[in-house]
Amino acid sequence: MAWENVVGQERVIHALNRTLSSGRIAHAYMFYGPEGVGKRAVAFALAQALQCATPTNGVACGACNACHKAKKGIHPDIHVLIPTIKDVDNDDLSSRLRALAEDPYATVDFQRRPSMEGSGGSTNKQVFYSVEMVNTSLRREMSYHPVEGRYRVAVIIDADKMRADAANAFLKLLEEPGDKTVFILTTDRVDHVIPTILSRCQQMRFEPLEVDDIAKSLVERDIADPNTAGVLARMADGSLSRAIELAANEELPQVREQVLDFLRLSFKGRGDLIVAKVDQLTAGGREHTKFLLTVALGIIRDLMLLTEAGSSHLIVNVDQEETLIRFVNNLPDARISDMVEAIERTCHLVERNVNTRLVLISLSIVLRAAMRGERTAGIVTDLAV
Ligand SMILES: [Zn+2]
Repeated sequence: MAWENVVGQERVIHALNRTLSSGRIAHAYMFYGPEGVGKRAVAFALAQALQCATPTNGVACGACNACHKAKKGIHPDIHVLIPTIKDVDNDDLSSRLRALAEDPYATVDFQRRPSMEGSGGSTNKQVFYSVEMVNTSLRREMSYHPVEGRYRVAVIIDADKMRADAANAFLKLLEEPGDKTVFILTTDRVDHVIPTILSRCQQMRFEPLEVDDIAKSLVERDIADPNTAGVLARMADGSLSRAIELAANEELPQVREQVLDFLRLSFKGRGDLIVAKVDQLTAGGREHTKFLLTVALGIIRDLMLLTEAGSSHLIVNVDQEETLIRFVNNLPDARISDMVEAIERTCHLVERNVNTRLVLISLSIVLRAAMRGERTAGIVTDLAV
């Protein structure tokens, strides 16, 4: 069956089915949109369709030898690249590519998953495509005629991670496309891709997934029961990869408790305790801090639902309902939308390498004011300078 590994994304699939049936295949595609919504899954499915020996209207049969090889990630004419850290270990790289072929929604990047042995942790090491990767490996691979398929296909994941020299080298490849070559690029950060590359690609935008689609997929994967799947799907912000990570994260209950503690301490305004709490919250590194902030955002959005919609029907943290209701009742003047804004702004700052301790302490001050119904504009923003 075609597109069988893809969750949602009907609009994109519809457009690609039209392209495939017309036979007018572009030399390069750029799949862009949020992380974890299926860009890689669609890229692999498209690569398979391009190799299938017996397609119907261009759509892969799913049963032929070429389809089998494509699905297993062993088709000789499909070349998959991910950006790597410096001095990458080749066995490690292969195990990441295997995991990706097995599940295109798996987290395999070096930054968010430093070791394939476990699911936790994160590293601040830079990942990138070097000019050597483009000029040797990719250029050579794409210069051959198809070995057994119909096209030479390169799937280039996180294409925004090309340094300037690599991007220029890649641009040259794009400018002189071979007859039977197709590049499929994916990125979460299309604003980081140079315009000269973008303009040579057919661009396709991917939207966040529906909560129901994510929940259903978690249940089908047998990693969550329907109730938990609903909670995780709402927390995941439209990203199936995120939901899968959350399901594997045994720390989630503790993290949520820490976030609630942080909110309580912020309200009380006890500076000494807040500093100690912030030390604890930031000890796990930048990615972990981002995770905490995502959890915090989920909690505050629940408060918003309880206050504004007056209903607990859609809240994410259903098991914390009592705590949340108590919060809303005790703090009738709280400016909850200011709290959401402050946390969102903090997330952006943390991504931009700002000192995470300072940002969280500043956030605590803003949250305190917002919980007390005071205006708060600007305090967090000032740290960005
Ligand atoms: Zn086939």
